[in-house]
Amino acid sequence: MLSGSFGRTSCEPSFGKWHYFLVLSNQSLTTPQAEAVIDLDAIGHNVRVLRRFAGDAAVMAVVKADAYNHGAVEVSRAALAAGARELGVTTIDEALQLRAAGIEAPILTWLNTSDADFGAAIAADIEIGVASVKHLNAIASAAKAVGEPATVTIKVDTGLNRNGASPLEYPRVLDELVRLGREGTVRLRAIFSHLALADQPHNPVVDKQRERFLDAIAAAKARGLVPELVHLANSASTVTRPDMQFDMVRPGIAVYGLSPVPELGDFDLIPAMSAKARVALVKEVAAGEGVSYGHEWIAPRDTVVALLPVGYADGVPRLLGGKFDVLLGGIRRPAIGRVCMDQFVVDLGPDGGGVEEGDEAELFGTGDRGGPRAQDWADTLGTIHYEIVTGMRGRTVRRHVGGEETT
Ligand SMILES: *Cc1c(COP(=O)(O)O)cnc(C)c1O
Repeated sequence: MLSGSFGRTSCEPSFGKWHYFLVLSNQSLTTPQAEAVIDLDAIGHNVRVLRRFAGDAAVMAVVKADAYNHGAVEVSRAALAAGARELGVTTIDEALQLRAAGIEAPILTWLNTSDADFGAAIAADIEIGVASVKHLNAIASAAKAVGEPATVTIKVDTGLNRNGASPLEYPRVLDELVRLGREGTVRLRAIFSHLALADQPHNPVVDKQRERFLDAIAAAKARGLVPELVHLANSASTVTRPDMQFDMVRPGIAVYGLSPVPELGDFDLIPAMSAKARVALVKEVAAGEGVSYGHEWIAPRDTVVALLPVGYADGVPRLLGGKFDVLLGGIRRPAIGRVCMDQFVVDLGPDGGGVEEGDEAELFGTGDRGGPRAQDWADTLGTIHYEIVTGMRGRTVRRHVGGEETT
């Protein structure tokens, strides 16, 4: 049926439709029980929204942690096609994975142990974030071994007190960079820092970090080290603080369509990940019967339930048990009883609502059709949506849709 309605013989044999056909036909053979569907058109939309916020500043799409579990290669391509200029990752391995996929855009890696394979990063033209003299010297040795200069970006600590060169270390890093620059082994490209309270845009700590950042830039310039660019803003600052944009912004979560400051709205972003599962079983449960381990839910009347084959091993937190809904058969229906390792149960009501085995339930998504969003899970659990989307795993199979503009 699918091959009859799509394909090269259609009157408009565009590549987009052909691509759609391939995706659908593949899916029809092997639809997984649980999926994380990633909408690459939403990624493109979100990057365009962020570019509008960024004004003259460039956008570095942060694609660390496999693009917040959305698929680093696919997301990077979609983000670059939508106008992101650079990519940011945590480790050298993450950066090399993008290079191996043929991505040529500038990539910055910012968190590595000092024995990391800096030589591989230099050879692949990956920019390395440095926060200490020890790291810098390791990078310089690698550059000598490779026979090419390393390009580095200084990560300066302006108050997060996590990664970044401390106020004591920073001048030493600068001095060492001057020396290595003369030697020709290391080239400084940029200076950056990371904010501690960006999701509270008017917190004075944000302003303090901005001031310290300006001081750090001035200290570098005083030594003759003039960075090509400087950058400070994450998603939250990108959409709330135009004065934090500098030469480039580094949004992560907003690229995936999740609001960096939920109290202030959605900023026109579209959630890119939808978590779905297909009903494995529909059955009757008599009034007074308990459902799932511990019998925490007792049927108040004769009812019909649906079993969804996805559990805490797949990223549905056990702590959500009895506290969430799914979109199934067109409406929100309550999940009942405990979430187990592999499954949980949904109450369909006495008439079963017409739900059948094989029907698809949306666990979270855009919220457009009235369904739940990752934000809802986060609110219920007292955590942040970052942890929800990065947590989908186990037997959850990722599938990308859209993104024709990148192919
Ligand atoms: C993760 C990260 C970002 C992106 O943060 P979001 O809050 O997801 O926008 C930016 N910069 C650095 C250094 C990061 O580690």
